[in-house]
Amino acid sequence: THFGFRDVPLGDKQKLVGEVFSSVAGNYDLMNDLMSLGIHRVWKRYFVATAQARPGDRVLDLAGGTGDIAALLKERVAPRTARSDREVGSVVLGDINGEMLRVGRDRMTDRGRVRGFQYVQCNAETLPFPDASFDLVTIAFGLRNVTDKDAALREMRRVLKVGGQARVLEFSEVKVDWFKPVYDFHSFNVLPRLGKLFAGDADSYQYLAESIRKHPPQDELRAMMDDAGFARARYRNLSGGIVAIHDGWKD
Ligand code: SAM
Repeated sequence: THFGFRDVPLGDKQKLVGEVFSSVAGNYDLMNDLMSLGIHRVWKRYFVATAQARPGDRVLDLAGGTGDIAALLKERVAPRTARSDREVGSVVLGDINGEMLRVGRDRMTDRGRVRGFQYVQCNAETLPFPDASFDLVTIAFGLRNVTDKDAALREMRRVLKVGGQARVLEFSEVKVDWFKPVYDFHSFNVLPRLGKLFAGDADSYQYLAESIRKHPPQDELRAMMDDAGFARARYRNLSGGIVAIHDGWKD
């Protein structure tokens, strides 16, 4: 294997994550469907449908990848039923990886979604936006790949307007006992095999399974949001804790 996944020094993590996502970009959407049996679509729909967003809002989706969340957000901030320009909001899709952004933009263009999107290559740890720029900031299946998560959470809060919401959708800790062995088998056996079979790349999917295990569980992430200065930080488990949605507000 060309990646030494275990015991990677922290400084190299950024580069490694870059290689992983450049390597999976072209197959990313297919793999999401295969790995989750399509359920990721339901999680993402729920995540966006219950976010604090209104027509006319300006929103940022971090680690936005191929644009699933951005496309759904656009329907909420710029609905087809908008009656004036004031009800037509915009979505900024930020991602550190140029290849993921390119796939995302091509996909949006193919689906006829062009206006109202902006693509910005950026690291979630150091955002290139002024304070108080957005009504809502989201990050879905992205935070666990960020090296300095505390910095990313602080940045999310900084670029929010007062009253704005930050939302994190991420794999979390499974809370249903009987499901744990099934989930482990899926993560460490099925997943790398699917990666090898369909993407010719077992290593990247092995990395993904491991990054899920290392990510802070529900209460720990909520405490990190408190520390980053968010008000009323809370979470909700979906599918028994396979994923969780964390929210925080800027007061
Ligand atoms: N949000 C999309 C979705 O739900 O389908 C993509 C999720 S994908 C698993 C993770 C994304 O995080 C990749 O596109 C990767 O390039 C991006 N990423 C990793 N580290 C990042 C960082 N430090 N800042 C911004 N994006 C990052």
